[in-house]
Amino acid sequence: MDYTNLIREELRPLRPYFPERYLADQNDPIWIDANENPYSEKWGRYPQPVNTRLQQEISKLRDFPADQIFLSHGSDEAIDLIIRTFCTPQQDAISVLSPAFEMYAHAARVSAVKVHTFRMEAPYQPSVKLAEEILTTPAKVLFLCSPNNPTGNLMPEPFMEKLLQEWPGIIVIDEAYIDFAGRSSKIGLIDRFPNLIVMQTFSKAFGLAALRIGMTFAQRWIVDTLEAVKMPYNVSQASCEIALDLLQKKGYPEAEIREIVNERQQLEQQLPQFPFVEEVYPSDANFLLVRCSHAKRLHQWLKEKGIFIRLRREPACQNCLRITVGTPGENTALHRALEHYARASQNAQL
Ligand SMILES: *Cc1c(COP(=O)(O)O)cnc(C)c1O
Repeated sequence: MDYTNLIREELRPLRPYFPERYLADQNDPIWIDANENPYSEKWGRYPQPVNTRLQQEISKLRDFPADQIFLSHGSDEAIDLIIRTFCTPQQDAISVLSPAFEMYAHAARVSAVKVHTFRMEAPYQPSVKLAEEILTTPAKVLFLCSPNNPTGNLMPEPFMEKLLQEWPGIIVIDEAYIDFAGRSSKIGLIDRFPNLIVMQTFSKAFGLAALRIGMTFAQRWIVDTLEAVKMPYNVSQASCEIALDLLQKKGYPEAEIREIVNERQQLEQQLPQFPFVEEVYPSDANFLLVRCSHAKRLHQWLKEKGIFIRLRREPACQNCLRITVGTPGENTALHRALEHYARASQNAQL
């Protein structure tokens, strides 16, 4: 099957922008081609449109070909670009699950692209039957998030497998939290599935959210198209250099990830002991989705104590809170605050 027909027709002739100065290999080049200030030093020049050093670092880290990695201003930019590359406004649609990361639907709406939403109910483990339902509804792009935000769990294998085998459009698997889930990444399947895109990010496990760097893994025809559609210089050179520097100094944050997973397991055990906690959903990520009585009241109460968690508002997440695993000190502070809240509610002081 020729998936290149999925690209919007008017975008197919586009080629990536690449300044001539970076194609030539002269000794003392004079760069008077880009209207830069010739007196400025380190940051005065437009960089190479793609940071190949960072691509190569990621390639080593993930054992994946460097020329099949697309860098973006966070995964958020990649979500927007994927939608704009494949979906014609006022005509095409994407499919998403709910509850899931809300940027997919947001980016689609901004581009006047329809959104088909498939609702999951607790405990948010979509079945092969739901996959069949998704397959009967035409859409250009299907977004899956695994581990899923806000529910925390990896999507079940039979559900994923069915969609990988049969989805006729682009299938995006958002693996923003994959480093907390062991060896379950789907990037190894990209060889077999030309329509598969896997997204990861430096914002979560790598601890570099402020730098805004996302990584997208796919076959060359997709990466080349995204390179052609994106703005030139979409990831700043400063961000790439800081990321490279930290990767070199710290390496892969394995110890931090292990610590976060340990702390998550402790919270998973502790939280159900509170009378107001009804359910702690199993998590493969660095956060927990927790169903409580009076979630809104608890959320507000913690906020007044300076502890910020997220109140979920999706219909299938009634009374759910999403709590990110912090440092041991932060988790202890949360635990104390919850004990305090439990006493206060018992004494009807709320
Ligand atoms: C946080 C998050 C992202 C966004 O990542 P950035 O690279 O910071 O834009 C993408 N997907 C999911 C599911 C997330 O939770």
